[in-house]
Amino acid sequence: MTSRAPLIDTHGRTVRDLRLSITDRCNLRCVYCMPAEGMPWLAKDDLLSYEELTRLARVALECGVHGIRLTGGEPTVRAELPTLVRMLHALAPGLDLSLTTNGLKLVELAPALREAGLVRVNVSLDSLDRARFHQLARRDRLADVLAGLAASKAAGFAPIKVNAVLMRGFNDDEVLPLARWARDEGFELRFIEWMPLDFQRQWDRAKLVSADEILATLASEFALEPAADDDPSAPARTFHYRDGSGRVGVIASVTRPFCGQCDRIRLTADGQLRTCLFSVREYDFRRVMRAGGDDDAIEALLRAAVLRKEPGHLIGQAAFVQPERGMSAIGG
Ligand code: SAM
Ligand code: SF4
Repeated sequence: MTSRAPLIDTHGRTVRDLRLSITDRCNLRCVYCMPAEGMPWLAKDDLLSYEELTRLARVALECGVHGIRLTGGEPTVRAELPTLVRMLHALAPGLDLSLTTNGLKLVELAPALREAGLVRVNVSLDSLDRARFHQLARRDRLADVLAGLAASKAAGFAPIKVNAVLMRGFNDDEVLPLARWARDEGFELRFIEWMPLDFQRQWDRAKLVSADEILATLASEFALEPAADDDPSAPARTFHYRDGSGRVGVIASVTRPFCGQCDRIRLTADGQLRTCLFSVREYDFRRVMRAGGDDDAIEALLRAAVLRKEPGHLIGQAAFVQPERGMSAIGG
């Protein structure tokens, strides 16, 4: 549905992927993401409405964006999520519309989301051990995630990706158990390196389990080969199991940044656009829309933001500043 010029930044990257955070709230409290209590939630009126989200998405699609991912916080805690999916799907029926979720509400929602036009789901799961899951997510809900995954399969989502964050001393011994389980279940597992985006600012490089380390552990049991169809702009490096039983990936955001190929922009639940997870600048689309700005005004701000897209994040360098908002407020 391109009717406006593409969004190209000063480093020659074209924006094709829009991440919409639709709430900062969550029904878990993962230790690498949020504190146990005391999160300052956004007020309801500050959240973009489904109409506002759809309008912004439409202008982005007109500028050549191909894919939209719904995230949060936990996107499934927002009321009537299938309604938003239906509204976005109606913009472009072939749209690559996906959801990142902790899976707790998929038993209830998977069929309605599929019917509304959702194409893909990514479910986050960091441990297969009930006590360990409880410790990591601070809620005893492993069974609900597993049931949500089964419901997604039954609803026809394929492939289903499972995201796992490893922390040394917590769940770094689960590389092989998670990989064996995902192979058996037919899920594509991706290990994500822990990034300095936790709300409580306790990120510690010593607790990060690197992609190289994870791949070495995988190689101790499985024969892997790089997937030939890996999308260079996708954050995951993907591998095939040589025996043909699926794929596994690593997202090495910290140790092997992929900023040079980044084609993403993100909108926070309160309508602030960020051109990088680690941006220290935000662009206020809520204000533009609520002040009566027309579609051209939305496009102009999109273009201004994209022009200033950062060449890359600076994790590990002296100039690195952890953004004020955490992952759950930005939209992972
Ligand atoms: N609540 C949903 C979920 O957990 O899938 C969607 C939002 S969550 C912020 C998106 C992804 O970011 C999840 O896979 C989560 O594990 C990951 N994540 C959260 N905090 C992170 C951090 N500090 N570093 C790396 N990944 C993180
Ligand atoms: Fe919630 Fe997702 Fe953050 Fe866990 S990672 S606390 S599920 S937003």
